[in-house]
Amino acid sequence: MPGDQDAAWLRAFPVLIPGESYYSLLARYHRLSGNLAEQYTFRELFGNRPALNAAVTLPYRVRLIDGKLPPESRLSSDLVVRRCTAYHYLRLSGLFTDAAFEQILQARTKRGRNQWARMIQALQGPHPRHLRFCPDCIRSDTREYGESYWHLIHQIEGVEYCPVHGTRLIDSHWPDGEKLAHFYNVPDRETADRLAAESRAVSAPDPFEKPYQELAGVIDWLLRNTDAVGTESRLIELYESDLGILNIEKLLRQLTSAGVKFLESVFPGKEVLELTDSLYWNGMHHQRPVVHALMIMSLGGIPWISHYKS
Ligand SMILES: [Zn+2]
Repeated sequence: MPGDQDAAWLRAFPVLIPGESYYSLLARYHRLSGNLAEQYTFRELFGNRPALNAAVTLPYRVRLIDGKLPPESRLSSDLVVRRCTAYHYLRLSGLFTDAAFEQILQARTKRGRNQWARMIQALQGPHPRHLRFCPDCIRSDTREYGESYWHLIHQIEGVEYCPVHGTRLIDSHWPDGEKLAHFYNVPDRETADRLAAESRAVSAPDPFEKPYQELAGVIDWLLRNTDAVGTESRLIELYESDLGILNIEKLLRQLTSAGVKFLESVFPGKEVLELTDSLYWNGMHHQRPVVHALMIMSLGGIPWISHYKS
């Protein structure tokens, strides 16, 4: 009965695995529930809300699962937000208001569809990609946990390599986007190895392997430490303490310190012009998190930023 489902605890819930994305946690719940169709799982989790989809990196509707998580799971929506979503990382950019964040936590998105689309863009870039995986993570997860899962870090804009293994990430066959209507399983070891071999066969050597690996490391660090770093204004103060008052020439020189071609690779096509335009008008205010990650990288990366961690 739908009314009862709103109030009842779920019978079981998966144990959170470090680095797991919100989407992956819900997908594992779906498998555990034994539900034949995803709509039953969505109803159990979120009550009679019409949207039949799960967010990959954002904590969409996460507040609705409070009161349903069984006490032995020792999970709360706050913990899910902190560990499984890029919410705090996105807050670092200062692009969005508190009200916009409240809308996605509570699923009051009717009036906020534009905001929602902009948030996805800020996290996954203008062209959200397929669910991605690292074949080496699949191997080590299976060894350690008996199964693998979709890692949050692998789904974020600017992350082309696994920060743990340095391996180039592989696109799965599953559709792109931030909200997915189905729960897709992460490939098993054999499939992951086959997809990795296929991908290697068709891709040219990457001239930006090193800077991308470094960028992935900075983004990974930020995902886990954003609340300790603080706000966008605090970050800008830190930049200015190293660089002095920032102007467009200085910003561009700094952001291209890994090479102009690298910047053009992170922001392909028109995007690099849009970035330049936005830097001209806004400076480092209201930039996508990946722009901050690049700036931090150019100033010395993790050692530089962790020095300032309060
Ligand atoms: Zn990996």
